[in-house]
Amino acid sequence: MIQDLLVRPIEKRPTTLRFDGRILYLVDDTEALEAQLYDGRDLELSDEVRERLRDQISTDEITPAYICFFYDERLGDFPYLGLRTTNRSTGATDYPVKRNAVRDGGFVCSVAGKRRGKGSSREASPYAELHAGIRVVVAESIERIYNENCQNLGVLTTTDFGIIDRIRRGEEIQLEEFTRGKDDITRQIIEYGGLFEFNVARLQGKVRTPVTAAQEPGAPEARPMTVAEKIFARHLVTDASRGETGVPWVRPGDAGFFRTDIRFSHEYVTPMASIFFEEKVGEDAKVVDADSILFFRDHLTFLSKVMSQERIEEGLLDVANELEVKQRTFSERQGVKLYGEQMGRQLGSQAICHSKILEEYAEPGMLVIGTDSHTPHAGAIGAVAFGVGTTAIFNSWITKDVRASVPESFKVVITGEPAANVTAKDYMLEILRHPYIRDGHAIGQIIEYAGPAVEALGVDERATMTNMAAEVGAFTGIIAADARSVDFLVNERGMDRARAEELARGMQSDPGAEYVKVIEIDASKIRPMAALPNDPGNGVFIDDLGAERIRIDIAYAGSCTAGKKEDMDMYARVLAEADSQGRRVHPDVKLFIQCGSIEVREYCRSRGYLELFERMGAEFIEPGCGACIAAGPGVTSSPDDVSISSQNRNFPGRSGPGQLYLGSPYSVAASAVAGYVTSWIPGQTIEPIESRKLSTV
Ligand code: SF4
Repeated sequence: MIQDLLVRPIEKRPTTLRFDGRILYLVDDTEALEAQLYDGRDLELSDEVRERLRDQISTDEITPAYICFFYDERLGDFPYLGLRTTNRSTGATDYPVKRNAVRDGGFVCSVAGKRRGKGSSREASPYAELHAGIRVVVAESIERIYNENCQNLGVLTTTDFGIIDRIRRGEEIQLEEFTRGKDDITRQIIEYGGLFEFNVARLQGKVRTPVTAAQEPGAPEARPMTVAEKIFARHLVTDASRGETGVPWVRPGDAGFFRTDIRFSHEYVTPMASIFFEEKVGEDAKVVDADSILFFRDHLTFLSKVMSQERIEEGLLDVANELEVKQRTFSERQGVKLYGEQMGRQLGSQAICHSKILEEYAEPGMLVIGTDSHTPHAGAIGAVAFGVGTTAIFNSWITKDVRASVPESFKVVITGEPAANVTAKDYMLEILRHPYIRDGHAIGQIIEYAGPAVEALGVDERATMTNMAAEVGAFTGIIAADARSVDFLVNERGMDRARAEELARGMQSDPGAEYVKVIEIDASKIRPMAALPNDPGNGVFIDDLGAERIRIDIAYAGSCTAGKKEDMDMYARVLAEADSQGRRVHPDVKLFIQCGSIEVREYCRSRGYLELFERMGAEFIEPGCGACIAAGPGVTSSPDDVSISSQNRNFPGRSGPGQLYLGSPYSVAASAVAGYVTSWIPGQTIEPIESRKLSTV
């Protein structure tokens, strides 16, 4: 029972620690690494070893994506399986770490160079290290999210290399060595041995979280705030044991716990979080307020369509399918609503998480957390919505709140009248190539979109922009609530207008609210854009691509970013026009159109789009993710394949080994008909490139 936590004895860790085990140096030297792993040889921290420590070890190297199909202590078999090292004799790249090697080696401390834990925020990485026996992570620098995940799980981290010898000698080490210089909350999380233990102490009123400036005696009664700051202020937990929330104002840097309105997760994360819950809270315990928790089966629904035979034979499809079973079982036991697979013979999900949250749940003024970087999607309706990791979502099932620090905000103001073929995706590709974003200044900030061209967008198109706050590297994205948000709530959800207006009231930024940067963009100067392969920030105007046409093999129209009703309108508009010109999807191209939810599919059916798509030669796919994580139709299968997609990101390998261009829904549909990367020009006949198939007949 959750109530049991209120009386469960909870102690801080001892103030001195001793570690019993070996030191593993993650060096860029196959032979030296293998000697540690397989011959029991210990290295000394010489200048040469320090020089050879691997820098930039990503979480993909610690736990490659396919390893993340495991969600429990079995992960401890696999840390560093993707670690690349150089064979100093041959110069070849090796992957020397084998299953169980770390655990069998008896290591307790793992040492690396700079930027350890970069890349994906997956908590599976430190969890795998923990269950392989690693208690202390040492590196020259450690990435923020990985570091936080380690702290949340109770893995100690430090950049002090002096500690290594002391561990090796079995000396007693003060816990303070790992907390020095940390903020109040982080220090206490480390002292309690993890976020869960800290939260139990917090619920018991044993720890105090720092007060914000507004709570200081003599603080001013108000300050001008952004819409996001207003939402944070409303949701700040002021007394966890009594469930009290709300302060008059917050400012950037104010840290604490914030009460959530919606907490959601998908099958990649729910299983591991549910294991944490069952182990730490109890098999029979119930999550707090199950009605505001949602689970989704969306990411791996189509995996069986694209997983290689080799991986299937290794048993990985079975392991991946366990994720679905574990999530479903947990949802049934907890009474949490699950948007699962569709019943019947058709393969498909009921909805992609972000699509459903915006369609049915998020409201202006809400605070939403989800286990996915594109959670900001719901910011389109004037909510603060952001992604969190496994431990954070598991803790939110107990406390209903989430730890955060109010970020700084920057504003993008879009003015001017856009051309008829310019969309929210084109705005985003323009924003993503702005130096402020490209140079990394926006990382961790809130991006607020404003201006007449943004106000003119429907909520679906706004969601394309808030969704891609993830690509900006922002904490979240948000658009103030207005008359269009009210119309959306009334027309799409059947909400009473007076209630919708009440929700939207005050959910705008104050005059005088502070932004660290304001970027102005003239929509009339933007032309349809494409992001060149490997980074969404590689945007160019399509008509600047040059005379040489970029042939495509695949066009993918879908994902959480572009599987909404307004996106379907755009695909249909281009294809209907091409149909009237006697055109079809180009014979060299496979066009996949995938909707974000059953509601969107039914919308397409009601508008006659399904017949149009079929007549044009497109393959319509039931809802689900997949193309954007190499787990569904639409992915490339060879480095020579070229595709264009309306999804949000095109990082290397993200959708298969081929070359992936990003474009707007209009551009993807037009390119599918033309056979090469192009834009749609309303009223102009699309001229298809000569087919390779025909020319080889
Ligand atoms: S559709 Fe793609 S980007 Fe969106 S949530 Fe699914 S995997 Fe992530």
